[in-house]
Amino acid sequence: MAEAQGDGQENRLIVVGGGQAAFALIAKLRALKDLRPITLISAEQSLPYQRPPLSKKYLLKEMTLDRLLYRPESWYAEHAIDVRLGCRVTAIDRVAKSVTLDHGGTLGYDTLALATGATPRRLPDSIGGALDGVFTLRDYQDADRLAEEMRPGRHALIIGGGYIGLEAAAVARTLGLEVTLIEMADRIVQRVAASATSDILRALHISRGVDLREGTGLTHLLERDGRVTGAKLSDGAAISADLVIVGIGVSANDRIAHDAGIETANGIIVDINGRSSDPSVFAIGDCAVLPFADMLIRLESVQNAVDQAEAVAANIAGNSVPYHPKPWFWSDQYDVKLQIAGFGLGHDETVTRAGQREGSASVWYYRQGTLIAVDAINDAKAYVVGKKLIETGMTPDKAAIENPATDLKALLAS
Ligand SMILES: Cc1cc2nc3c(=O)[nH]c(=O)nc-3n(C[C@H](O)[C@H](O)[C@H](O)COP(=O)(O)OP(=O)(O)OC[C@H]3O[C@@H](n4cnc5c(N)ncnc54)[C@H](O)[C@@H]3O)c2cc1C
Repeated sequence: MAEAQGDGQENRLIVVGGGQAAFALIAKLRALKDLRPITLISAEQSLPYQRPPLSKKYLLKEMTLDRLLYRPESWYAEHAIDVRLGCRVTAIDRVAKSVTLDHGGTLGYDTLALATGATPRRLPDSIGGALDGVFTLRDYQDADRLAEEMRPGRHALIIGGGYIGLEAAAVARTLGLEVTLIEMADRIVQRVAASATSDILRALHISRGVDLREGTGLTHLLERDGRVTGAKLSDGAAISADLVIVGIGVSANDRIAHDAGIETANGIIVDINGRSSDPSVFAIGDCAVLPFADMLIRLESVQNAVDQAEAVAANIAGNSVPYHPKPWFWSDQYDVKLQIAGFGLGHDETVTRAGQREGSASVWYYRQGTLIAVDAINDAKAYVVGKKLIETGMTPDKAAIENPATDLKALLAS
């Protein structure tokens, strides 16, 4: 690309954050031939990179950081993006339209995009959260530290049966660790999936040797010389552990917005155009709370980070592009690929369909008779067809879904 001319100093865009959403925003703006001056400020030391492999192939040491980067350094120079790494925005002055940097100094903006992501919840220090050997997983440095500790024969305790915890369990077992996974709720992935999906994932992990304990919380960690050695569980059991992986959800990074008087509610509240309560400030990705199907929600996924950021890029460039999420998600555990289309929250019925191959299946979610989501386990066809049906507002007959003889593709024509 030719060197950006910019629009003088009138149109300065500051992007706070250097993750999936930040990268999608700047890439889309430049693809739209929008040449305004852009400064990307990221607290991380690395250029923007993909996070999903951190709990999958990267943790298995099957990928290196350079393969996670969206673009090499040269791309940012070629596209006239001023990148500030290892630099944190500590405050927003909405009157002066400037941000304060932890390195000192301020930078002025005309438009501000907050793409600050989320931070994993930690265990309180009072129950051992600060001990050596206790890990959360959000960035490549977390993954590097954890990978160093994942040695065969060691015992990993995983706290939380959400997708991060389950993926970490799969990696740990694959690397030859003993794994105990505890989930406080009655069943794993309860927050995001139907019980039929929990049943399939539970059976998978138990078959791979995970000691999976649902309805079991942590009372406190046990330690020697500041290093974790085990845990006391809510059912009174005590187990030993060489390391602990905490996967108990995340909190949106909305502090700087909140402190600047922008509306927040565990996330920065935005409208369908991605605008916050301050019209000069947009929020995208995991840090944004957005309207979806009569709710205000945060969607923690690559799909949302990319699609919302691209809509916001078009809006910043002067178009009017409302963002109507079409959620999809995936998770890799052992040799199983789970693909999710739609958003199952509020479902009142599910139908389970056996797949063509051994171990494949799909769970179809309905709300008031309408198909809203599909979880496909090693069943790409069910995922693709389910996604199309949901996106086009079609609801197939439940009996047809349940019948393994039904040709799924034919449902799209009916
Ligand atoms: C281990 C792991 C596995 C995942 N697997 C999947 C998956 O399989 N499928 C899927 O769809 N999604 C997955 N996700 C979720 C997905 O990666 C996120 O939804 C996505 O990264 C969100 O992008 P984001 O840009 O909003 O936030 P992030 O990628 O978190 O980026 C936010 C950035 O902002 C920076 N930042 C924060 N505050 C400041 C500040 N004040 N100043 C400067 N910089 C700041 C942070 O350091 C960070 O670099 C996974 C996430 C993790 C952690």
